[in-house]
Amino acid sequence: MRRNLVVGNWKMHGDIKSNQILLESIIEGLRDFKNADYVVCVPNPYLFQARSLLTNTNIAWGGQNVNQHEQGAFTGAVAPHMLTDLGCTYVLLGHSERRNLFYETNLTAAARFDGAIKGGLTPILCVGETLAEHEAGLTEVIVASQMDAVMATLGEQEFAKAMQLNMVFAYEPVWAIGTGKTASPEQAQLVHQFIRNRIARRNADAAAKVRIIYGGSVKAKNAAELFAMPDVDGGLIGGASLRADEFVAICQVANNVTSSACLTE
Ligand code: PEP
Repeated sequence: MRRNLVVGNWKMHGDIKSNQILLESIIEGLRDFKNADYVVCVPNPYLFQARSLLTNTNIAWGGQNVNQHEQGAFTGAVAPHMLTDLGCTYVLLGHSERRNLFYETNLTAAARFDGAIKGGLTPILCVGETLAEHEAGLTEVIVASQMDAVMATLGEQEFAKAMQLNMVFAYEPVWAIGTGKTASPEQAQLVHQFIRNRIARRNADAAAKVRIIYGGSVKAKNAAELFAMPDVDGGLIGGASLRADEFVAICQVANNVTSSACLTE
């Protein structure tokens, strides 16, 4: 049975003082939630702070990207073991902002995914179409190409390792990120089902287990209808993860939703 997962993506926001206030409020707000998993992906300079405040809580922390190399002359890059050294268990990969603003591609996402699992991190692979692609009816083509670029590079051993690490997919329609527009629950469900079916072509057991979370203007007011969909296993939350009350309310929805596809373990 799949547990819901809520991941906050802080992007490039915060400072030591505001992070402390936010994290302390989230720790307090989530204290009694036991039925889902909760993660915050904070900017790298604050991972140490996340570790000191979140150790021994029910909230995990992670990076927003990682380089595939273990070490070397890669100025500005961060290796997988550096994230695990700081207690990270998760890492976002292939976020549309990385693809659009930093010229990352399906190939770099694949290399980083491979590096992440070799380093023992749970990868959260972000996939999703732009507005133009959406309007041209290309959603499935784009999502398939983003998934296949990564899945095709994984041999049987790496695929098994990715499953052992509970790899996650995040469907994030680019037109819904930070825009206030959300995919309808039915639209999200169709794409999530498509993603699960595509994984099933490789491994049916893996498809049943893998968590597919939705991202794109998720707020407390729309989380319940999205998370109630059978193939939506929680959310990737940007803007709303910077407000403790909103983030806690979204996590509460994830904690409460126990549809047949999402019972607690
Ligand atoms: C994101 O950055 O992954 C995201 C989903 O942002 P927002 O929730 O602000 O749309």
